[in-house]
Amino acid sequence: MKYISTRGQTGPVGFSEAVAIGLAPDGGLFLPETLPDLSADLVRFAGLGYADLCHEFLRRFATDVDAAALKDIIVRSYRGFTHPGIAPLEQLGENLFVLELFHGPTLAFKDFALQLLGNLYEHQCRVRGQTLNVLGATSGDTGAAAIHGLLGKPGVAIFILYPDGRVAPLQERQMACTGAANVFALAVDGTFDDAQAALKEVFGDQAFREKHRLSAVNSINLVRVLAQCVYYLYAWLRLPKEKRLNVEFVVPTGNFGNVLAGWMLQQMGVPIRGFKVATNRNDILYRLFTTGEYRVTAVAPSLAPSMDIQVASNFERFLYYHAGRDPVHVREVMQAIKDTGTYRFEHFDADSFTASRCTDAEISSLIRHIYHKYGYVCDPHTACGFKEISRDRVSVVLATASPAKFPEVIRAAIGQEPIHSSLEALKSRPVVKHPVRAAATTIKAFIGQHGV
Ligand SMILES: *Cc1c(COP(=O)(O)O)cnc(C)c1O
Repeated sequence: MKYISTRGQTGPVGFSEAVAIGLAPDGGLFLPETLPDLSADLVRFAGLGYADLCHEFLRRFATDVDAAALKDIIVRSYRGFTHPGIAPLEQLGENLFVLELFHGPTLAFKDFALQLLGNLYEHQCRVRGQTLNVLGATSGDTGAAAIHGLLGKPGVAIFILYPDGRVAPLQERQMACTGAANVFALAVDGTFDDAQAALKEVFGDQAFREKHRLSAVNSINLVRVLAQCVYYLYAWLRLPKEKRLNVEFVVPTGNFGNVLAGWMLQQMGVPIRGFKVATNRNDILYRLFTTGEYRVTAVAPSLAPSMDIQVASNFERFLYYHAGRDPVHVREVMQAIKDTGTYRFEHFDADSFTASRCTDAEISSLIRHIYHKYGYVCDPHTACGFKEISRDRVSVVLATASPAKFPEVIRAAIGQEPIHSSLEALKSRPVVKHPVRAAATTIKAFIGQHGV
């Protein structure tokens, strides 16, 4: 399988190369040249455990990774998950399910992709006899998950930019209290979008990028999307047969990465009815899916900080398909968004999608409501998914983080605090963070000094 760029001026390249370079050199995002049709395999898939299913799925994409090595990477990636089901599906009501994606090491769904990515990077470094500097920007959970995917791995250093003071205290501790010498938590003076812009500029410097063997780790890496497809498939296979054809996955959304994975799986022939894009007050995607207009506005901090985003990076992948796989059109739209912050789609055809948005007050009241009605404690991101649950579909709400990551919000909503032992242990460790300006020059200097 080869990988092409949404902007049409790179490649095609193999899987390992697309993973290693992250962002395509033409500024676009990598996508598989063709999507496999899984419809004939679904019956056979139904009996597989998580790691086996993941292998069945990924081997169709990671065609240049040795099959036995791939299997080993997958097994090791999910071995650290604390729930035997890896991604357990809990039933709350007749037609209401929660897919718990927070049983990995950093208690958020990003572990699914980033444990895998960390092990793939390690494998590639070993095979090629090279070192790698990994750079990412995070609004909270990506950075923590990326760091825990690469913690202590030989030949790899990881640099994570995050908006200082705008991630939850425990999220910061997950990044800055690892004690690992190959981990650098860079506290940026600005918002997530400022950090993301600086990161894009660093990656825009081709010479620097090659000299330091720089790789991107954030929501744009191809592996993020592919690894995330697997739990949609796993959950779909676990639903009672009579419910499967009517399922709507409800996805708390920021960068559009998670929901895009589900949508791509649907394009591979898995009969999923639809997706709900659930945003917090930063509602660019809600507005897009309800009006057809993509309009960037200022980011406002919310109770669900990992969704405090107004530039939905992965949207470009959806756009590629939406634009009839025409990279010229993708370039035009992305340029217009860059220049004016706005694009109005004449015919925004998003049949499979519905959308909802949630204010902070609604997040609190939904946490309370779900607790009182079902005895279930959900985190503030997941809470957004419970807004306007469909009456005529089977809803599977993706629980993207453990409530224990947001104890203050939960206490304010239901009067008690969820506790998780791995987070308790973090509270007594020293925080080691490096304050930086959101400027490419500053970040490059730091990598030059501390990289491998
Ligand atoms: C990252 C994150 C999201 C948003 O996911 P996207 O892929 O950016 O849409 C939602 N909830 C939590 C807990 C997250 O960490």
